[in-house]
Amino acid sequence: MKAAILHGPRDLRVEAARDPEAGPGDVVLAVTMAGLCGTDYRIWSGDRPVAYPRVMGHEFIGRVLSVGSGVSRVKAGDRVAVEPNYSCGACPLCREGNRNLCLSRVAVGIDVDGCFAEIARVPERCCWQAPAGVADEDLMVTEPLAVVVRAVNRGALRPGESAAVVGAGTLGLLALQVLKGQGARVLVVGRSARRLPLARELGADATLRVGEEPLERAAGRLSRREGVDCVIETAGTPEAVSHALALVRPGGRVVLTGLPHEPTPVQFFSVVRREITITGSMIYQDEFPEAMRLVGAGTVRTRPLITHRFGLDEIDRAFAVHAEPASIKVAVVPSQGRA
Ligand SMILES: [Zn+2]
Ligand SMILES: [Zn+2]
Repeated sequence: MKAAILHGPRDLRVEAARDPEAGPGDVVLAVTMAGLCGTDYRIWSGDRPVAYPRVMGHEFIGRVLSVGSGVSRVKAGDRVAVEPNYSCGACPLCREGNRNLCLSRVAVGIDVDGCFAEIARVPERCCWQAPAGVADEDLMVTEPLAVVVRAVNRGALRPGESAAVVGAGTLGLLALQVLKGQGARVLVVGRSARRLPLARELGADATLRVGEEPLERAAGRLSRREGVDCVIETAGTPEAVSHALALVRPGGRVVLTGLPHEPTPVQFFSVVRREITITGSMIYQDEFPEAMRLVGAGTVRTRPLITHRFGLDEIDRAFAVHAEPASIKVAVVPSQGRA
């Protein structure tokens, strides 16, 4: 097979590689479509070092080629969405249900080889049967969608509440739709105006470019009170965290699911005085089926987020385009999957 192999920061080469073989409990998949995200970009650039050589990529749909001994839930020919994280299953965190927080969690495409290749191998428990009738390009975004399903659920919206989403990238545009699916009125706040028309098309009741007007005022207009009840922060920048805290009403909830890699100054005076609940939300625990259901039901439209597609041979271009403001979700379509 061919695989895009990262040999070091910004040293990504498409090379012939040995086909992965299915050991006990493993599933070997032809990768039909893969998504590129900020995590891949950080690994590619060297901001997040990994053990080299490494095949990156963790958001993908595939067709089962073979299975190892003991695999019973999937068989050759099945189409599956991949949940690219698996935990040890034995530690106290895993046993109490906090699989996503397991300190021994293995991330596909980071700790082990991932999907920027024609063929990938994952444990059976990572595979979810793709619903019939839902296209690969709609399901490709299942992984980031599972992230925001969890974040929104941790916001525990009540009927009639209003919400804001900070960030209008893939996660933000998905969070918007999950919130709309729960009946909330939603304000989307973006750093640039570029994606705000798409946010409105996908159901946003209001949009705001940062700097256009005070965040508090826009939140007050949407909520018709002191601010929105719940904010989902998806951008992962220090500014975005402070925007989230400006949008929320006293007594409201802020869910952080973007990963702010930089130190983030927070006015905790205002958090205490306004009794803001700040909740972290890390990837997902059991949200994959719900994410696939939302796509299958049409509650969440993922296809408009896929702005670019590249073959595996053009993967350098895919990384370049990911960094361009015009792209939202860049897809890699390995050639075997295309056949
Ligand atoms: Zn990702
Ligand atoms: Zn564990």
